[in-house]
This record gives sequence, structure tokens and C-alpha cells, in this order.
Amino acid sequence: MEVLCAHCGAYSKLERIFCLRCRRRIIPLTPYDIVISDFIHPQDQENLEVLKGSPLLSFAVKQAVINRHSKKMRRWLRHNAIRVKPLSKIDTLIRNCGEILAIHMLPETYIIPSKDVNAFTFGSDDNPTMALTSAMLEILNEQELRAVIGHELAHIKSKHLIYHTLAESLARGAGMLASFIGSGILTLTIELPIRMLLLAWHRESEISADRASLLIVKDPTVIETLMRKLMQHGRESESSLEEDEVDEYFKTHPNYGRRIKEVREFYNSRKYREAIAKLEKRMEIATALAPACKFCGEQNTG
Ligand SMILES: [Zn+2]
Ligand SMILES: [Zn+2]
Repeated sequence: MEVLCAHCGAYSKLERIFCLRCRRRIIPLTPYDIVISDFIHPQDQENLEVLKGSPLLSFAVKQAVINRHSKKMRRWLRHNAIRVKPLSKIDTLIRNCGEILAIHMLPETYIIPSKDVNAFTFGSDDNPTMALTSAMLEILNEQELRAVIGHELAHIKSKHLIYHTLAESLARGAGMLASFIGSGILTLTIELPIRMLLLAWHRESEISADRASLLIVKDPTVIETLMRKLMQHGRESESSLEEDEVDEYFKTHPNYGRRIKEVREFYNSRKYREAIAKLEKRMEIATALAPACKFCGEQNTG
């Protein structure tokens, strides 16, 4: 069965879940779909509310970060990376993870030919872009790759992108901030406490995204081996297992040791079991509602 996308007018098969042209969700959510509160870390939620309430940040973020940074990044990707084609193997993986996390829109995705092992997502809520490096695709198995994709899609679902971009630019130094000031968009200096708050929130947002990864792979050892691989390949923005708390204050990501510990804790929580029960219920309903052949009763998945 084909479904008309209300946004762009393209037709896509129902089971694609997301429009093949504009990547927006084409089927309605059910009460059994995953919501942000199923996986968000309490500290992430609390700090995000504070950030959203800051008039300085919301103005700076909307005007400067999205328009300037995202445009520049997309232009770079179009020239230096390969765009993932709809219904390719990797697109199918992304679609599947997006279905499990019930996101509203899939990101436009690029593969960057690079020896660095990295994945990142940026943009606005209604125009997210994800990039994965070729080295990452080479060293990860399918489950680990699903964990990475799930992590990135969780940032989209949680509406983390704009604040991430700002936090990352602050972590890198004043370069980007200076360019805002130069453009006359932001004439105030972002104070150290806000910078600290942004970075502290960023680290908690990573824990939320790791929890969402676990809802996809359902096995904490997958995330543990993934973290170990990332650590071995020295992802630049990340810290090592041995680094201490003091260092953490100036970083966008928590150390791997904490991330693994948090994932294990979530795995043993009631919240996790409830989310998984919801997902199972959702699968049951989806199977029951799938169009079946009137003659033989076989599920029509084609
Ligand atoms: Zn569409
Ligand atoms: Zn992340």
C-alpha cells in the first residue's frame, strides 16, 4: 500500500515508514511508540529546559548557529562526502532504527571517506544531517553500527542538535563565537557559567543517546565493544577510560568508563524494561495490522 506524504506529495510504500523523498514520517505514531521520556537522562532534561529558557542562547542559536554553521557543513559534505541513497543497505539500517525510536524525520546522511572513526549529526529539527566516516563503517559490525545510528537519531528525536552545535563550537574555542560577533548577530560574550552549563548538558545528552542505542540493540555488551573500538581508534572528541573527572568539565563527551556504566545501569532499570515492553507491544500491533493476502492469509511485506 502506498501512502501520500502530506509534506511533499510523494508516494512511498507504507512499510518504508518515512517518505522516500523528504524523509518525513508518513505513518502516525501509536501509544506504544518510544517517546523521549523513555530514555532521557534526568540531568539532560533538566539542563535542556534551562538552556531553552535562556533568551540569549535561543536567539544566538536560531540566528547564527543553524544558518551559518549548518550551511557551511552541508556545502562541505556535498563536495567531500557521498550521499546515502534511499533504500541502500545503510539507508535501510537507518530507516529501521528511526522506526524503533519513532523519530519524526530521518536525517540526510553522508559517508565521509576518512581514516578517522567518527559519526555526528547537526542541523535543525526539521532539517537534520548525519555523517558517518568510511572507517567507522569498516570497523563496526552491523549491531555496533545500529548502536551508533541509534545514538545519533536519539539526538534528533530529543531536539539536541542546535544546542550541541553551540556547545561544540564553544568547546573548540572562541573561533566560531568570534564569527558571530563579527557578523553583528551576537554582540554579547557567552559567559563562562553558560559555557559550563552547555558542556555539562552536552555530556548528559550523550548518556540519553546511549540509552536510546540500548533500546535498539538490547544488549549492553554491544555498546561496550563499540565504545572500546571507538577508544582504540582514538576518536578525537572523546576521552579515554582513564581520564579523570577534572578533565571532563571541558569536554563535550563523558568518558567511556562512565558511558558504559550508565548503559549497564539503564539496562537493569525498570524504565528500560517498560520501554522494551512497549516496543514489543508495538511490534505485535504492527504485525497484526500488516496487510495480509485475502486468499492465503500470508503477510504482505513486499
Ligand atoms: Zn515527503
Ligand atoms: Zn552523541
